[in-house]
Amino acid sequence: MKTSDSQPYQAAGRVFLVGAGPGDPELLTLRAVRLLQRADVVVYDNLVPIQIMDFVPPSAERIYAGKRRNEHTMRQEQINTLLIKLASEGKQVVRLKGGDPFIFGRGGEELQALAAHGVAFEVIPGVTAASGVSSYSGIPLTHRDYAQSCVFVTGHLKNGTADLDWPCMVRPNQTVVIYMGLGGLAEICRELVLHGAPATRPVAVVQEGSLATQKVVTGTLADIAERVSHAKLKSPCLTIVGEVVNLHHELAWFNPQTACQEPRLAVV
Ligand code: SAH
Repeated sequence: MKTSDSQPYQAAGRVFLVGAGPGDPELLTLRAVRLLQRADVVVYDNLVPIQIMDFVPPSAERIYAGKRRNEHTMRQEQINTLLIKLASEGKQVVRLKGGDPFIFGRGGEELQALAAHGVAFEVIPGVTAASGVSSYSGIPLTHRDYAQSCVFVTGHLKNGTADLDWPCMVRPNQTVVIYMGLGGLAEICRELVLHGAPATRPVAVVQEGSLATQKVVTGTLADIAERVSHAKLKSPCLTIVGEVVNLHHELAWFNPQTACQEPRLAVV
């Protein structure tokens, strides 16, 4: 087995931490596809699109590691132990994660466990949800007229409240991308206004970006939570806050109806 024509696989096991992108299988990297085709075992998460698993040969073992919010099929420590075990059996292990493994993907934690046990690993980046959603919704994350910087934050609420750097998030001429922010959307918008953002600041919430099920709901900090609830959006959703959201109406190009109609991210 080879990783490329010039670089043979090592006899020892190895873990390839691979980003699967936001959903559209066409957004996989060539390296990801090659590794999937040659894997002995693939350990994959909930946000990995079904079609991507078609690249895995029938002879390879597939292990579902779950990871829906509040519904972890395997605990993080169990996943770490599994990866170490598989690699120490000499297997070529693909650890497949949605988006990019190093952006809200716990990839760093998994690699630290591997490093501590002397397991060899490589990281293959993926298109993170921010990039995928931005492209497929026609919302550039930066634009010389509207945003000179962009921040990625998690909106995952701990103890019912998002512990975020609100003063940083309300700055003008900046785009804020919120991962995992659907559940806490109303509270996040309220806090942003309380910390000085204009209630008229544009917001987009994009469900299942890059897939046939993509939906884009736009509004403002004042009304987006209500619009999203009315549209019955479901996870995964990405929230984009900033003036760049206004470009959606001009730049939207992706027509979900003409996209691949296969089922999407939910794997089991
Ligand atoms: N490592 C991943 C992020 C995992 S956190 C990445 O780089 O993209 C999971 C969150 O990512 C979801 O709650 C959602 O906010 C976002 N997300 C992932 N895929 C998405 C998609 N196709 N459309 C919208 N949001 C998505």
